Amino acid sequence: MRTSASPPGDLTAVRGGLVWFRDDPFLTSDEEALVHVKDGLLVCENGKIVAAGPYGDLVRDLPDDVKVVQYRDKLILPGLVSCHVHYVQTRIIAAYGKQLLDWLDHHIYPEEKRFSDADYARAVAALFCDELLRNGTTTAMVNCATYPRSVDALFAESVGRGMRLAAGKVLMDREAPSALLDASPQVAYEQSAELIERWHGVGRSIYAVTPRFAVACTPEMLRTASKLWRDHPGTLLQTHLAENRNEVKKVHQLFPKCKDYVDVYERHGLLGPGAVFAHAVHLSKREWKRLYRTGSGTAHCPTSNLFLGSGLFRMKRATNPRRRALVGLGSDVGGGTSLSLLQTASEAYKVGALRGFPMNGVKLFYLATTGSAAAMRLDHLVGSLEPGHEADFIVLDPTATPLLAARTSNTKTIHDLLFTLAMMGDDRTVLATYLNGRLAHDRDDPSAPSRTCWSGPAEVRTG
Ligand SMILES: [Zn+2]
Repeated sequence: MRTSASPPGDLTAVRGGLVWFRDDPFLTSDEEALVHVKDGLLVCENGKIVAAGPYGDLVRDLPDDVKVVQYRDKLILPGLVSCHVHYVQTRIIAAYGKQLLDWLDHHIYPEEKRFSDADYARAVAALFCDELLRNGTTTAMVNCATYPRSVDALFAESVGRGMRLAAGKVLMDREAPSALLDASPQVAYEQSAELIERWHGVGRSIYAVTPRFAVACTPEMLRTASKLWRDHPGTLLQTHLAENRNEVKKVHQLFPKCKDYVDVYERHGLLGPGAVFAHAVHLSKREWKRLYRTGSGTAHCPTSNLFLGSGLFRMKRATNPRRRALVGLGSDVGGGTSLSLLQTASEAYKVGALRGFPMNGVKLFYLATTGSAAAMRLDHLVGSLEPGHEADFIVLDPTATPLLAARTSNTKTIHDLLFTLAMMGDDRTVLATYLNGRLAHDRDDPSAPSRTCWSGPAEVRTG
């Protein structure tokens, strides 16, 4: 930390209850895993966390001219991390329909076609980034559309806000409307490589190679995705896996020589650290073992799995201590019904309960912060208040609504409080979001950009 004598840096100090994780609550006790400082001080300098601990211990080292921002009786946590979402589906969230494959044809593909228009893409990207911040999500792994300009639009908006997003252009060359298909795997490679050149490492951007899923990719496209990922060290990879039973059946038909769905991706070189597989609902023990052995990540997307009737994720199997796979949470909007990771955590609890594995607040908040960051192999950068991490954090308000205030005033332990916030919290609970140590969203500031309403094309049809 800067002392009174050192030259002035970009210093922020906030006071409140601090919560983060120093270990994995799926492998150790809650007491070992959770760090809770009741009256804490978090100090950030030049975008990094430089100190986090008891207020009384740290405040005397603060230079006299630094004003401490007071969040007494609030909780300060790492920014939430969503490891699976589609920004190009923001405006088609909550579309009534059948299950996955039919819903893609009727709602999703028609909307994604609109992202060939750069202005439309930019307007939705701005809305999406503001909504993430309003919901306390500071890092996300994002699917764009097939069109490179849909990626340009998103990174332009996220870089402008200073967000750490991973994103990429969707790769697909079959089983979708022709306007959305890549011309060829070779063209898809070239367009993706150009995007990597243009955006990877710009601001805090990370490129994520994005084959849509095995149904929509020929074997050659899957091999191309692997080559792209391996030719560009530091990039990530994201795709969908075993979301829906009919999808799994179709994958078996399309890849008859492969043992199972995970084997399809493994044979095409797509497993490994930095790869994140969304859903992973219908997997055998063998498949979980391969995900674990290869260090691949998975994104549990409960609101989506319930909304589309896809199935119930097996958290107990995924986090079996003998082969603990990396799992994070994803909103999966537009299959998911909320961009709030608090609401996502609430549904994760219910899915776990239906599977006989109810998770407490410590596990749920771990999944939404460090867990997601670890699935993306970014836990050394984000998802923690440990000094050295990037200074993305949020302030949660336990009195955000009358009912929440009544309930949380009746909590006796931090465990009870965290669980209540995970069950009842939403965007109203997020009082403030900080990026790089700077305020990026203030719930109570009516002029904040995140308060502006959609100003793109209006097509309200009520008849
Ligand atoms: Zn998805």
